[in-house]
Amino acid sequence: MNILLIGSGGRESAFAYKIAQSPLTAQLFIAPGNAGTETYGKNIDIKVTDFNAIGAFVVSHHINLVVVGPEEPLVKGIHDYFLSRPDLKNVPVIGPTAQGAQLEGSKDFSKQFMQRHGIPTAQSRTFTKESLAEGLQYLENQQLPIVLKADGLAAGKGVLICTTLEEAQHELRAMLAEAKFGEASSKVVIEDFLQGIELSVFVLTDGQDYKLLPSAKDYKRVGEGDTGLNTGGMGSVSPVPFADEAFIQKVEQRIVIPTIDGLTKDGIPYKGFIFIGLMNNQGDPYVIEYNVRMGDPETESVLPRIESDFVDLLMGVAEGNLASKTVSVSEKTAATVMLVSGGYPGKYENGKTINGTENIKESILFHAGTQFVDGEIKTAGGRVLAVTALKDNLLDALQQATADAGRIYFEGKNFRRDIGFDLID
Ligand code: ATP
Repeated sequence: MNILLIGSGGRESAFAYKIAQSPLTAQLFIAPGNAGTETYGKNIDIKVTDFNAIGAFVVSHHINLVVVGPEEPLVKGIHDYFLSRPDLKNVPVIGPTAQGAQLEGSKDFSKQFMQRHGIPTAQSRTFTKESLAEGLQYLENQQLPIVLKADGLAAGKGVLICTTLEEAQHELRAMLAEAKFGEASSKVVIEDFLQGIELSVFVLTDGQDYKLLPSAKDYKRVGEGDTGLNTGGMGSVSPVPFADEAFIQKVEQRIVIPTIDGLTKDGIPYKGFIFIGLMNNQGDPYVIEYNVRMGDPETESVLPRIESDFVDLLMGVAEGNLASKTVSVSEKTAATVMLVSGGYPGKYENGKTINGTENIKESILFHAGTQFVDGEIKTAGGRVLAVTALKDNLLDALQQATADAGRIYFEGKNFRRDIGFDLID
């Protein structure tokens, strides 16, 4: 079959790598892709939110399956667009409609969803510009630290953890009265701070049945020892050693099943991935957030461990018979180290020539912010490449990925040498 993959990051490179391995794939197209996705398919120069151009391509190239990587087109309704067009409505789209995508697109919506369905999460209240005074007063009676979250998408920057009342009140004012994050902060969720250690669990669902995919842990801060600014993610590992079977069972019973049932009860059809960001608080899982797509760079660690035919699983979602499929997962450990541009997540320059990719023999190299310019691979983003090593144990995987990250060169290159080492006993 012909498959169109939407996106251009490391996550989409890992998707493309798995889709290309499937005997079910005839042709794979990636819109817009990057310098690495060309290895697995054909890049097409269409923006992820240009639904008309995507639709026209799907018709002209007889696409049988559309797989959406990032959240933006989902929140903006790419799936709904397909359903609204008679010539596209029978082409399956992997990813929820805009209604389901609200689980990620609106933190207020997702908190209400969790409260309605008894899913464990931090206690919270939502305030708007009109209720700012009430919000400021509410803060006075809360324990510190306290978490403020802009309701809408804010590129991972809309969450503030405030350690003093003054800071919290100042930020609440800035978000609601001064639109610090624009429309995204027209509502603010004020949430109790959860103690514990974070991890992510991934679910694939056809709306009725679900499959758990391997869990992963990502490293968000730019600096070693988890210091410095937040980024899109500097690395990841899968599996997560502290997420043992007993813990995952709690996640399944208390969170995954109520989430799938909740979607059904609320009349929200959902076909796609659910990424559940969790806090492990003394062995009990609490939801920090839902995302309606896979994570990046978690996907680069999770997908190489999936041994089943990935396209067959996606077809199970499309056709509503996921229950008949099996997800077999490698016992091996995957470790991913991201190479980022100098200055990222602040200002950085693009267009640096990347050398040394041919040195990578034992790891998988997933391109993220890269581009072919005059026959050379150049940097074209903050997060440039993901190096994933798959080994029998965590230490070997970490050492291999970290060593291979050092074998690639571009001006200003930065990477963390400590990804995952905190998980070694
Ligand atoms: P991203 O896109 O980076 O995943 P986001 O903007 O969607 O982030 P959240 O995932 O909700 O926002 O929060 C970002 C980070 O803030 C979390 O990964 C977690 O480290 C921290 N955080 C959020 N909520 C809480 C909480 N209630 N208690 C403790 N830490 C929290």
